Amino acid sequence: MKRVVIALLVALLAAPLLWGVWQWSYSEALDQLEVRGRGNLSLASDRLVSQFARYRQLPVVLSDNPVLRDAVVRDPEESFQDINIFLEHAADVTGALDILLLDRSGTTLAAANWRDEGFIGMNFAERSDFVRAMNGALGFYHSQENADDPRGFYFTTALRDDEGSITGGISVKVDLEVLEVQWRGDPEIIFFTDANGVIFIANRHSLLLRVYGNFDGLLADEKESGRYVRDRLKSMFSFTADEKFGRTRWMQSGEHEIPQRALYLKTPLPVIGMTGNILLDLKPVEEQARLRTALAAAALVMLWLLIMNLLQRRRTLADRLEIEEKATAELEMRVAERTAQLQSANEHLVQAGKLAALGQMSAGISHELNQPLAAIQSYAENAVILLERDRGADASKNLGQISSLAGRMGRIIRNLRAFARKEGEPATRVDLVKVVEDTLELAGIRLREKHVVVHWKKPAAPVFVNGGGVRLQQVVLNLISNATDAMEGQDDPQIWIDISRNSAVYLQVRDNGPGLIDKDKIFEPFYTTKPVGEGDGMGLGLSISYGIVQSFGGQIVGENHRNGGAVFRIELTPAEAV
Ligand code: ADP
Repeated sequence: MKRVVIALLVALLAAPLLWGVWQWSYSEALDQLEVRGRGNLSLASDRLVSQFARYRQLPVVLSDNPVLRDAVVRDPEESFQDINIFLEHAADVTGALDILLLDRSGTTLAAANWRDEGFIGMNFAERSDFVRAMNGALGFYHSQENADDPRGFYFTTALRDDEGSITGGISVKVDLEVLEVQWRGDPEIIFFTDANGVIFIANRHSLLLRVYGNFDGLLADEKESGRYVRDRLKSMFSFTADEKFGRTRWMQSGEHEIPQRALYLKTPLPVIGMTGNILLDLKPVEEQARLRTALAAAALVMLWLLIMNLLQRRRTLADRLEIEEKATAELEMRVAERTAQLQSANEHLVQAGKLAALGQMSAGISHELNQPLAAIQSYAENAVILLERDRGADASKNLGQISSLAGRMGRIIRNLRAFARKEGEPATRVDLVKVVEDTLELAGIRLREKHVVVHWKKPAAPVFVNGGGVRLQQVVLNLISNATDAMEGQDDPQIWIDISRNSAVYLQVRDNGPGLIDKDKIFEPFYTTKPVGEGDGMGLGLSISYGIVQSFGGQIVGENHRNGGAVFRIELTPAEAV
């Protein structure tokens, strides 16, 4: 939709531009055409006038002829046959259509066409050429007397006697058709009109004897301008003339010899009393204007396409950047979300694992506490009896036993309290040896119950690592419990625990159980091979341990030992001894 509107807008802007280009091209081509047309018209006019020149001289030359000068003053009753023969000969030689000898009153005395009826005795008194000749000037006139006559152009001059007074006239008639024949092939349409607007001379036959406007009411007097056979006059084929760029455009349809649209130019020719006209076909002008406009339009379209292409490229680039940005932002957001989710899930799991371990242990612990409690009771009772019997030394041994049992009970309870506390503090400096010691103490009852032999290679000095005491204890307890579970019902169950260090500190817990079934899965939450529902098979222990160790910047791996059994290795970063 937006594109359509833009395209329309551009078209709206382009339209006046193209219109301007068209106008400019048209007027420029018209200028050239006009220059050429004016040249051709003046050439054609010159040609006509020079063709006439020879005939114009003829009556002047003849007027000096003594034979004619004498003849004009002859008695009109006498024969003029010798003069007829003379004129006929003169016409043949010069190519004139007719040569007439007129008396002072304008009546024809002799004629080259004496053989044709009606010429001798014809009176020219009223015709403008004779009137002019009698006034001493060269007269001219054009006429077509009869429908079948050729169109003639007359030049008339006076005859004088020796005193110089006018005695008569000589008139030479020129056949216009003979002149026209020579320029019929001209590409431009040229015609000559008289004062009445009648086309009397033309290089196209169809134009001859056509009249502008209403030819019933001719503008000028026939005697003045020329004579026509009225029936032969035709109206101009329908045309309209309009003004374009200050020039007259001629438009017509129907006449195939004449262009449909033409530039119309004219020039006055007073020497022969006519106007020269030329019609120049406008088709090449229109074609040139069209071509230039089309070129301009093509250029505009090209420009438009170029701009569109550039814009499109910029847009796709921007789009791509935006998409990429969006994708990156979304990805980052999802990573952050997922991290937060995992963190909270991990925290929950750690706590759940603790509670599970707590539940698991509480039975054993109450059992463990009951045992020393019972022992303490019997030791105390014995001590009472021993004191009554005055066996102080034995009694004090019993009291020592009581004290040691109470100490042990205290430790168990302390561990339990520490274990149940949710530990969120950052890693601190912890003695890994003490962690193992405390864990063994916690697991002691169960290990003894299951007859597990523990090989604990206790280092002589504390080994400090980065970590949290209770959390590490949870990890180690989990490893010992898992080993114990795995070796359930097995002869000779054994666990090896040792600590080693180089740049890192390693704690290794190994058993001689059946080993790991699928060592790639053991750290996955809820992966367990233990029967579900017995309270111990949650599949969370190792995954929680994994998270704990990692939170201290360490690592935990589990695999099968080459001599059988599973081995877990915890790698921790050492903490400097203070
Ligand atoms: P759970 O103890 O609840 O099954 P854990 O994550 O602690 O969950 O252990 C996952 C699984 O790893 C156990 O079910 C067991 O199949 C395997 N596993 C762990 N420790 C040992 C071991 N020492 N020997 C054999 N298999 C073990």
